Amino acid sequence: MSLLIRGGEVVTGRGRQRADVWCAGETITQVAPDLPAPPDATVVDATGKLVLPGFIDPHVHAYLPLTTVTAKSNFANCTRAALLGGTTCLMDFAGAGREKDFDEAWAAWSAQADGQASCDYAFHLMVRRFDSELQRQLERLVARGLKSLKIYLAYKPALAIPDEDLLRILQFAAANGLVVMAHCENAELIPFLQQQLLAAGKTGPEWHEPSRPPMVEAEGVCKFLTFAAAAGAKAYVVHLSCAEALSMTDRFRDKLAQLNIETMIQYLTLDQSYAARPDFEGAKWVLSPPLRTKADQEALWQGLADGRIDTLGTDHCPFDFHDQKTMGRGDFTKIPNGIAGVEERMALAYTAGVVGGRITLERLVQVAAENPAKIFGLWGRKGGIAPGFDADLVVWDPAARRTISVQTQSLDTDYNPYEGFAVQGAPEVVTVRGAIMVRNGRFCGPTGKGRLLM
Ligand code: MN
Ligand code: MN
Repeated sequence: MSLLIRGGEVVTGRGRQRADVWCAGETITQVAPDLPAPPDATVVDATGKLVLPGFIDPHVHAYLPLTTVTAKSNFANCTRAALLGGTTCLMDFAGAGREKDFDEAWAAWSAQADGQASCDYAFHLMVRRFDSELQRQLERLVARGLKSLKIYLAYKPALAIPDEDLLRILQFAAANGLVVMAHCENAELIPFLQQQLLAAGKTGPEWHEPSRPPMVEAEGVCKFLTFAAAAGAKAYVVHLSCAEALSMTDRFRDKLAQLNIETMIQYLTLDQSYAARPDFEGAKWVLSPPLRTKADQEALWQGLADGRIDTLGTDHCPFDFHDQKTMGRGDFTKIPNGIAGVEERMALAYTAGVVGGRITLERLVQVAAENPAKIFGLWGRKGGIAPGFDADLVVWDPAARRTISVQTQSLDTDYNPYEGFAVQGAPEVVTVRGAIMVRNGRFCGPTGKGRLLM
């Protein structure tokens, strides 16, 4: 099996060139102009198109069974939507707080993904407590290639990690070179503010943001990075949403051996006015951290452009409006948190970021492909276009235009949070390890091709 992508403009984080990309089997073997096409090769004409590395989403919940509700997602539909959006590799989190230990969580997520995922995937391991038995399980996973852990400061008692366990897991991570990712919001302040608001009759979705304001996130960032600095661990702040939290990270840049910051496409393109839409419709845009102000959006774009923010993900976690988001009618604290995004991320980022003049295309490739690969130990296989890398490629039509709508999305959820957004740029052909998974913007690959990356 061989594939030649011919005549496109190849873009990496370091620049662009007119070149053909030759893939033998699952691997890129040559990148050079005017390569000859052997008679048995599949040839994709990329004339007038961009050839980009398959994008990586470092933060996705393809499967998420929470205590009271399960996200309306599975590995089959999530990875199909991701591929349709140009993402060829996603990272989920093994564990959601209900499993008895790491082995059970790992087995559950592996079983969900195996034979269902159409793109490649990795797992971060969710940690909410740490003891000697868990340490033995963790050591076995690290020996198999686990690179990253995830902890929550918020969501007490289901998910939040106690301080003593946090310090122990950070020390273990430092000793083993693992990246520790953290959801940074203060666990005590959120329920306190929620109860204050509810007692004052402030029960609608527009009160979700005031219940977890920027200072609550900035305090979480400060606490996590203080602990990480003390333990000497590599720290990764997930889904940073606002200027106040971003400036807090700046105080720690000289205190940590490795500090990476992630933001999400929703914080760059949506703002808190969405959650204030009348008749409870705002519940469609309830997620945590909450959507912020337009000024926060610009601060995040600036952080992506100047290098203070390293990665761009989605925190994809879809729910239906009817029957799921409506669980919180009359009490915003009961609205399931999360929105979809894997199908829309790259078109939105290309439109608002590149066409909008806020970041270069090379920078977009860095934050949505190269950096996730480098941070999580996949560089050399994923995120680049060079001999030896997996043949995960996107032929991107920079001129394609469409309007995002629930009518045309691939997911089976009953709304799209970006309904009505006009976007430019679309993946025309998407490959995973040399196999064409999307052609002419339609999914055509085999379900279940995806592999667990360790
Ligand atoms: Mn989170
Ligand atoms: Mn998440």
